[in-house]
Amino acid sequence: MSTTNVPGVNGIVQNEPLLWEKGKKGRRGMCVPASDVPEVAFPAELQGKGIDFPDLSEVDVVRHYTRLSQWNYGVDTGMYPLGSCTMKYNPKINEKVATTPALAAAHPMLADALMQGNLQIMCELQEYLATITGLPGVSVQPAAGAHGELVGMLIFAAYHKSRNSKRTKILIPDTAHGTNPASAALCGYKPVPIKSGHNGILTVESIAAVMDEETAGIMITNPNTLGLFETNIREIAEIVHAKGGLVYGDGANLNAVMGIINARKCGIDVMHLNLHKTFSTPHGGGGPGAGPVCVTEELTQYLPAPRAEKVGDKYQLDYGGPESVGRVHAFHGNFAVLLRAYSYIRTMGADNLKKASQLAVLNAAYIKEKLKGTLPLAYNRPCMHECVFSDALLQEDKISTLDVAKRLIDCGYHPPTIYFPLVVHGAIMIEPTETECKDDIDQFIEVMKMIVREAKENPELLRQAPQRAKVRRLDETMAARHPCLCG
Ligand SMILES: *Cc1c(COP(=O)(O)O)cnc(C)c1O
Repeated sequence: MSTTNVPGVNGIVQNEPLLWEKGKKGRRGMCVPASDVPEVAFPAELQGKGIDFPDLSEVDVVRHYTRLSQWNYGVDTGMYPLGSCTMKYNPKINEKVATTPALAAAHPMLADALMQGNLQIMCELQEYLATITGLPGVSVQPAAGAHGELVGMLIFAAYHKSRNSKRTKILIPDTAHGTNPASAALCGYKPVPIKSGHNGILTVESIAAVMDEETAGIMITNPNTLGLFETNIREIAEIVHAKGGLVYGDGANLNAVMGIINARKCGIDVMHLNLHKTFSTPHGGGGPGAGPVCVTEELTQYLPAPRAEKVGDKYQLDYGGPESVGRVHAFHGNFAVLLRAYSYIRTMGADNLKKASQLAVLNAAYIKEKLKGTLPLAYNRPCMHECVFSDALLQEDKISTLDVAKRLIDCGYHPPTIYFPLVVHGAIMIEPTETECKDDIDQFIEVMKMIVREAKENPELLRQAPQRAKVRRLDETMAARHPCLCG
């Protein structure tokens, strides 16, 4: 028997039985006082066999679920440096606002006059997002980043169609997020991959060489998936516009540039934001998100409808015109996510939103500088909200990026993003976010250094990791295709 299976050795938490295995006949949750009224037989027609629930005490149940909850790792447990995902701490006040009964329980089919508050919040949120991006038309309907991208592509298609322009291709740099080519293809466009330059940045020449009048536009992730700012974005936008194309900005990495760059001034026509990354909605595990889409004035007519608007001193839903790409989500999008974002923006204020981005960049830059002597940097230039290392040194010790990630679990950290972006061999992509303090970041840096030392001195420790987790190494293909949810 391995030590992980011995109760009480590695913690009972790790070997929690099912409630059915735990139950003992005769246990009960509470004792009610003896009845002081005459007994009446329970009506026969209401009697049945019922479900064979186990007999358990209250403390059995409380401990069971508390232990199960401790198998999870989340931002409330510790640092979660999962690059590209912005796993920052979500202040609890935003949760509280999202559960305000009058807001949360409002039925989405209420008449406009009966949900003025909800409409006002949607309307003001649209205005805030317009101010943050510099793009005045906003739809809060899309439910995720990739959903926003698809809406963006539908808008591209509607725009070109209105001009009788037949376009079949979209330019997509190799440093774009993986969802970008998928969204373009879903919309019927052919993604044309563009190689980034030697310094990880898109070159003006590479776009000039391929942009033509059959190309609908470009999708640029900025900052890109290497955590680098696309410094040529304006010139690139000019080239694309000159050939009648549009520029899509993947704004899921907004956490690096909030209140600092204006997307419109960068030449972007359409951009989605990930409220669940930047604006305080807990995510991971596939919970609800929101990927609002922001567009220029001239593209506003194509946005999904309905959208909240203010007319006089009243709020109402505008069902759009014939140019709208239509509805992309039931009712008004994931409203609870919109509430959290609204609350986050209001409680932070413009100055603090900007400061959050500055700190997110500072924290990543600090890790990059402190670890660059330990692990090789993919590109040694100033980073934004995340830094990317390669496995070039680990290979010497026959240690893989995966081994390092698994060892981090034993050390109490959620691993960073690994093997992404694809342009870096064995990539380790670290995004600390602004919510980590210097002490915690220093501790993470020390642990990373220790693991790289262990790779030389005791490589088995890495290859056998994780030893302290509930499960060891999963067959990830099997885990995804045949998940075992009951064991
Ligand atoms: C996370 C992310 C996406 C996709 O967002 P989802 O909400 O997961 O669909 C797209 N682009 C970038 C740059 C991202 O980081």
